[in-house]
Amino acid sequence: MKSYAPHQIVKSCSRIESGLRLAHDGVRACTFSTGAVEAPNYWGPDEIPLNLTKQMIVDKRRALFERLNDPNDNDFLCRKCTHWVEKEYKEIRFDQLEFVNVAHFSACNLRCNYCGFTKNNDFKKEKYSALNILKHFDAKDVTFEASVDFNAGEPTLMKDLDEHLIFFRENKMRVRLYSNGIIFSQAVYDAVKDGTITWLIISVDAGTPSTYFKTKKSNC
Ligand code: SF4
Repeated sequence: MKSYAPHQIVKSCSRIESGLRLAHDGVRACTFSTGAVEAPNYWGPDEIPLNLTKQMIVDKRRALFERLNDPNDNDFLCRKCTHWVEKEYKEIRFDQLEFVNVAHFSACNLRCNYCGFTKNNDFKKEKYSALNILKHFDAKDVTFEASVDFNAGEPTLMKDLDEHLIFFRENKMRVRLYSNGIIFSQAVYDAVKDGTITWLIISVDAGTPSTYFKTKKSNC
């Protein structure tokens, strides 16, 4: 591990320090994955250690930070990103949770004709539990700004949706939940009511039954 002086100016990124994207194709720091700018996976969906610890996540973050600060690491795509900043090393920590994206599967009960998953027939079931990763953090790790983009797949299809919402409620993380709004979920209702879900995002993009069927490919 490279050492830095407390007042040394280093490059860092809030997503490297405290972000987590739990995606269907792996666990990484952030949502950027354009191919031109992206944070590499910490683990692929089949590689997440069974004995995962918080320290393993901290170590992965630290390794990205060191790559960002290595002037010779020209293959590291975070270096091309506009979101990293310079600050004193003493301000940096890797043990917190701030911006989280829960999108660890893509299965859905609609086939909207504008959706990339529909176009690529890329609906994938869960290969790992997002909660098993998140539960390594608790309320003392969660920053005041912490929030969650929860756009799984269709979250109301999750058997453990309630447990996820309980985790976010107990750890005071505000949730933006993206749903197609077909399945009534008491857990979602309760989380909207008590403010755990701060934003509930549902597309209302078909005004009649016939346009709904044409757009969604489903008679729901
Ligand atoms: S530097 Fe950019 S690509 Fe890398 S983790 Fe931060 S936001 Fe993501």
